[in-house]
Amino acid sequence: MKPSSFNYHAPASVNDVTALLAEHGDDAKVLAGGQSLVPMLSLRLAAFEHLIDLNKVEGLAGITRSNGTLRVGAVVRQAVAEHSADVATSVPMLAKALPHIGHFQIRNRGTVGGSIAHADPASELPAVALALDATIEAAGPGGTRQIAAADFFVSTWQTALDEGEILTAVEFPVWGPGSGFAVEELTRRHGDFALVGAAAGVQLSGGKVTKAALGLFGLGPTPLRAAEAEAALLAGADAAEVGRVAASGLNPLDDIHASGAYRKQVAAVIVRRAVQAAMQEAGA
Ligand SMILES: Cc1cc2nc3c(=O)[nH]c(=O)nc-3n(C[C@H](O)[C@H](O)[C@H](O)COP(=O)(O)OP(=O)(O)OC[C@H]3O[C@@H](n4cnc5c(N)ncnc54)[C@H](O)[C@@H]3O)c2cc1C
Repeated sequence: MKPSSFNYHAPASVNDVTALLAEHGDDAKVLAGGQSLVPMLSLRLAAFEHLIDLNKVEGLAGITRSNGTLRVGAVVRQAVAEHSADVATSVPMLAKALPHIGHFQIRNRGTVGGSIAHADPASELPAVALALDATIEAAGPGGTRQIAAADFFVSTWQTALDEGEILTAVEFPVWGPGSGFAVEELTRRHGDFALVGAAAGVQLSGGKVTKAALGLFGLGPTPLRAAEAEAALLAGADAAEVGRVAASGLNPLDDIHASGAYRKQVAAVIVRRAVQAAMQEAGA
């Protein structure tokens, strides 16, 4: 099928985007890589009179490192971030998550900001943003504001962005030496969305875990932070125990892809694998 007809806008500035959103309200939607929005339009699951393309907007592209932070502009393609040396060295968890997204054709168009703004609970990047305590920069009619990832993911496909606001960048903290990261997931076929996934980060000092981050996806209505499992990791629990702790707090629902009970059982294994791999990379 083809999308119903729409008016296409290609504004050049964030102010123009927010002015268009204010003018057209619910009849307008922003378009980034189109890898989630266009299928929904084509299947007529959604229809908008106005599509506002972000790709020519000044200031939304580029990856920059400063003051312990890596800033990724909203329209940076997932493939560009995947092959960026800055991402690989500064935020390895992000670099490891990106190849799991769909297929390379999807990543060639899909954007980092689009994935996070779309807030699919089975997506890798929202869980990475949550695990790493990233900061989401939003711009609206009243200017820009910073939103902690912990406050950003409200429900399935729902974020803390106000109507009329867009995501302009994501700032990821850069971890210090002695760190290790891993992203593990279970999919039915290569390129599918994850049934269950985990992103793990650890930092070691003197053989002990001094910093831990665990983000889960495919296991709830939003990406989840496994705080109790992080605490267990900091207290010296082994990877299998951390996996059990992470899974014990979960209550995933049944859907057409898997039962909640199956997902919960698999979560313990996926978290164990992610923690083991992160620990190994950190030098444990
Ligand atoms: C076959 C297939 C397999 C896929 N597999 C995976 C997968 O395994 N893992 C995964 O994570 N994703 C997967 N995706 C989705 C892909 O990652 C999308 O690229 C991503 O979800 C959305 O990014 P986008 O730039 O394409 O956004 P778009 O499709 O353009 O937009 C998606 C939504 O986000 C909104 N939006 C986009 N950018 C902004 C912004 N800057 N500010 C505010 N709102 C914004 C749009 O209005 C829209 O509602 C898959 C897609 C396909 C087609």
